[in-house]
Order: sequence, then C-alpha cells, then structure tokens
Amino acid sequence: MKYSELGYWLKKSAEWVEGYYKQLDDQPLRPKQSPGKFKALLPLSPPQSSQPVADIMADFKRIVPSSMTHWQHPRFFAYFPSNAAPASILAESLVNAMGAQAMLWQTSPAATEMEQVMVDWLRQALGLREGFTGTIHDTATTTTLCAVLTMRERTLNFKGLTEGMSGAPRLRIYASSQTHSSVDKGVRLSGIGQQNLIKIAVDQNMSMDVSVLRRQIEDDLAKGYVPAGVVLCVGGTSTGASDNIAEIIALAKEFDLYTHVDAAWAGSAMICPEFRQYWQGVDGADSIVFNPHKWLGAQFDCSVQFLADPTPQVNTLGLRPAYLQTLDAEEVTNFNEWTIPLGRRFRALKIWFVMRAEGLDGLQGMIRNHVAWAKKLARKYDQDPEYKIVTDCPFGLFTFQYCPAGQNANVATKNLLNAVNEDGRTYLTQTLVDEQFVIRVSVGPISCVEKDVMSVYTICKELQNQGSPTIDSLNGTGVNSSQ
Ligand SMILES: *Cc1c(COP(=O)(O)O)cnc(C)c1O
Repeated sequence: MKYSELGYWLKKSAEWVEGYYKQLDDQPLRPKQSPGKFKALLPLSPPQSSQPVADIMADFKRIVPSSMTHWQHPRFFAYFPSNAAPASILAESLVNAMGAQAMLWQTSPAATEMEQVMVDWLRQALGLREGFTGTIHDTATTTTLCAVLTMRERTLNFKGLTEGMSGAPRLRIYASSQTHSSVDKGVRLSGIGQQNLIKIAVDQNMSMDVSVLRRQIEDDLAKGYVPAGVVLCVGGTSTGASDNIAEIIALAKEFDLYTHVDAAWAGSAMICPEFRQYWQGVDGADSIVFNPHKWLGAQFDCSVQFLADPTPQVNTLGLRPAYLQTLDAEEVTNFNEWTIPLGRRFRALKIWFVMRAEGLDGLQGMIRNHVAWAKKLARKYDQDPEYKIVTDCPFGLFTFQYCPAGQNANVATKNLLNAVNEDGRTYLTQTLVDEQFVIRVSVGPISCVEKDVMSVYTICKELQNQGSPTIDSLNGTGVNSSQ
C-alpha cells in the first residue's frame, strides 16, 4: 500500500465509521460466541505476497465488528465506561496519521507543550489548587506503579535504584481494603512485596478507618518496618467507595508518608463542583491519578497524573546525570523522565479536541445527567419489593440484588445477570458486597439517553424469571469486576 492511496481508504473508513455508529444501538452489545471461534477465521501464517487493501478492508468488515464487545454502545453499563467522544476519535486519527514519538521535547514540541497545557486545563476543570503539574500515562495501573516506585525511592533516599532491594529495610504501603488491584500490582512489581501492602479495614462510610491506620503505622514503626506511603481511593471500582481524604492525608503528613490518590474513574465527576466534597482535602496529596479515558471521553489510553512536586518521581524514573537532579524551571521538559517507557504517544491532542468540542458545560451536563439517571433507575429497584439496593454512591454507580420470596438471592441475582447479558440489549457486571452477589450498574456511556438507562429495569423485569446459568455467559466475568 502506498501513502498516495491513504486518502482514498481513509474516506472509505470514515464512511464505515459513520455507519457503525448509526446502527450501534440495534446491535447486540456482546458477540454471542465461544472462545477460539474468531481465531479460527484467521489464516495460521502470514501472506508471502502483498494483498489488495480492498480485500483487507472487506475482511475487516466481515469478521471483526461482529466479534467485538461494543464499548460505545448506549446501553453499556458494565465495568466503567471507556468513552470515545467523537472529537477524540477525530484527534486520535490525526495523531495516528502523523505517527510521531513524543519521548523528548525536541521529538515533538507540540506534544510536550500541549501535554503541559492540557494537564493544567484539567487541573482547573477539576478544581485543584494551583501548583500541581503533571503528565499523561497510558493507564492508572502504570500511574500507580510510578507513584509506588516514588514512595519506595523517596524513602530509601534513591538508593534502591542502584543498590536494589535485597539489603533494603522492609517498607510498608497502606491502602484501603476497597482499592483497586492495580495497587497490589504496583506494590508487587516495585519489589516492596505484597506482604508489605497493608489493607486497612473500612469504617461505616467505606473509608479507610483512620484510627486503624494510625495504629498500624505505629505498630509497624515499633517492629522496625519503614512506612513509605499511602494510596487513597476516590470512587473505588467495586462499589464506588471513597476514603476520607483530608483526614488521611493529614495523618500521612504527620509521619512524612507520600500520598497517592486513585480517582481513576470518579476523578472525571470533579469537573462538577458539587462532587468535590467527596475528595475534600485532595489539594494536600502528592500525586493524583484520574483517567479521562473512562468517563470524560478522551479515549483509551489516557491517564492523567497530577503531581504536587514532580522532582521525586523524575529522580525515580528519569535517567538523569547527577548535575541535573534538581528540576530547573527554565529547562525543557522531557516527559519520558516522568513515566516508565521511553517512547510516548501524543495523548494530549484528544483532550484538547474533546474539551473544546464539548466545553466544560457539555461535559458537566453529561456527568450530571448520568448521575441523575442512575439515581432514578436505582429508585425503580428500590420501590420494587423483589429487588433491593445494596450500595449507592454519589457518582452514578449502584449495586442491587434480585431477591424474590423463597429463593436464594445470590443464586437468583446471578441467574438474572446471566439472562440479561445473554439477551444482549445491555451489559452489566457483578461484584461481591459482604458475601452478597450483586449486580453493578455503572451509568456512563457518552451516547446514552435517559431511556437507555431506564431500560435496564424493564429488561430485568422481562427476564427475571427466565434466568438460568449457562457456562458461556459465566466465561470471562470473574467476580472482581475491575476494569
Ligand atoms: C479503572 C480503575 C483502575 C485501573 O485503570 P487502568 O487505567 O485500566 O489501569 C484503577 N483504579 C480505579 C479506582 C479504577 O476505577
């Protein structure tokens, strides 16, 4: 294929995209097929000679979309959303076309400088204090790993980088029992070790219990451990739990512990001032992560990290000669020193496009609608004696059980979930709350309207007596509904 043919095929693909979005609403949300079926459609070996683009495109249309889960479907209420706003799709296609690698300022000045400005636009949009800078990573998992590595090195006086961990003191990281598995992964990969991640029990508000945390830190110190940091959570994945940010950050500061706030999903809601009470005190954090690729519509991958002071992270992740170890306001920023990979995508462009095309008004309106519709839907279940709301949360995520008289509610709920997901008009996932099997409803697709949200209840009522577990529908829906 030649670059000179690209224009023609991009027009063709634009036509396809338009058609795809037009008929998305009528498509089953997930393909009905068993593992391995798609693989069987592909040749086992690569072609020796060139094939016409027309054939490649025809095969794409024939086999790929029908084997996809349609994340942009207006009734996708599983996991968390992974929204791709139209302006984001456009921006990503331009980024793809330029094919730039933005590892250094000089390898793409616009990418670096737009990243700086977009992080600041988002800082303002979320109501964070002046002084936070930041960067864009691929995912919250990576961002949290960077924060945990920084906790490690800051505590070890940056000696772990050269000397390794074998002679190091035993560090401790603290997090609530509601934090995402990415925290476990970060602590494992950092060499600190899972056993040194202490999960603190939550209080009745589902926040890390501050007095338990204090006792744990004091105990650890007495036993010769070295506390290094606290990971706090705003809008946990399972049920949307949030820590008491102000109190925990104050405690962390007392012990000079580094703090990282994981607001991967709920951070987007903070563009609405009325939600900021749920992370009150966040301005005291050392590091904050939120994913515009979830709710805000700057599509995957796009995970923003705000940093009160980038220096410890850059000294951890950057390969800097000794004479450059204090960041100078005058020097150019080479963002590869702030993140793990050397190579970087130009992720800021989609933020620029989305924020301009939607405006803060548009984004706030979307979030407010989602939250209001989720509340209205939860009320329907609440008023129905065959259902019960198990958890509610301020950000448009709730969980419920189907509990018809005379039946085991866990079994009945699991059967109902299977029936709903077999049906294909919507897609929901599950989690466990105090040993109860519950269905999660996470309202967030950019394209959904009130009718789509309310249809979840209608679909449940229609299918509630048909549910029976099938092997296929249980595949790939592990109990931890993490995304
Ligand atoms: C989704 C989510 C993550 C993981 O995000 P990735 O970007 O997929 O790594 C971590 N924490 C929370 C609270 C999340 O909601």
